[in-house]
Amino acid sequence: MNVQTTDARYVFAPSPVPALPIKGSDKLFPVHRIYCVGRNYAEHAIEMGHDPNREAPFFFQKNPDTLVKNDGVFPYPDASNDVHHELEMVVALKSGGKDIPVEKALDHVFGYAVGLDMTRRDLQGEAKKAGRPWEVGKAFEAAAPCSELVAATEIGHPAKGAVTLKVNGALKQQGDLNQLIWKVPEMIAYLSGLFELRAGDLIYSGTPAGVGPVKKGDKLLGAVEGVGELRITVG
Ligand code: MN
Repeated sequence: MNVQTTDARYVFAPSPVPALPIKGSDKLFPVHRIYCVGRNYAEHAIEMGHDPNREAPFFFQKNPDTLVKNDGVFPYPDASNDVHHELEMVVALKSGGKDIPVEKALDHVFGYAVGLDMTRRDLQGEAKKAGRPWEVGKAFEAAAPCSELVAATEIGHPAKGAVTLKVNGALKQQGDLNQLIWKVPEMIAYLSGLFELRAGDLIYSGTPAGVGPVKKGDKLLGAVEGVGELRITVG
C-alpha cells in the first residue's frame, strides 16, 4: 500500500510513501527505512557456516519501496537461480533517536509484523567472497514482503513464541523468539549507536534455521506466534 504525495514544484511525481496497514485500524504506518539483522539465531549462523557465538550484531538495509503486502505476489527476480526465503519477526518503530539505552528501547516500538527477507543467495555468496556489499543479494525488487502490523498496545512485546515458515504446506523453518541471540531491546540500542533511528523504521530481526530456495508457484506461509501470519505466492 503506497501513499502518493503531491506538490506542484516537483519536476515529476515523487515516489509514493511506502506504508503498511495496521491490524484493526484504518490508519497506515508510513515506512522510513528497513534495517535487517544478520545471523541472529545460532542454528542459522551454523547452517551458513559461521560461528554461532555471540559477536556484535551486524546490519544491512533493504529499500522501503520493495515491501510486498500480505497475500501479495513475490515475482521471482532476475539475475538469480537461487532465491531463498528467510522468515523473520519485524519490529516497527514509532519514534527513534541516537544512543537509545537498552532499558528504554521498547518505548520506541509501535508494533510487530511477520516479514520475509528474500535473498538472492547466489549473488550474496559472490559478494561475500569478493568482499563486496550485499545489495544485489538483499535489496532487489519485492525483496521485503511484510504482513500488516499489530500494535504493541494489543499484544505487548513478544519475547518467546514459535517462528515458522511453511512452503506448500511443508514446514521448512522453525525457531523461537527466545532463541534470538540479540534481543529486540538490544538490537534497537545497538543500531541507534550506528544510525539515528526514526519513526517509521522497520527492523527485520533475523531468521531461524531452515532457509532454502523458492520456485515459481510456491505458496509461502510464515507465522510468528502472537504476532500473525504472512502469506506470499512466488510468481
Ligand atoms: Mn535475514
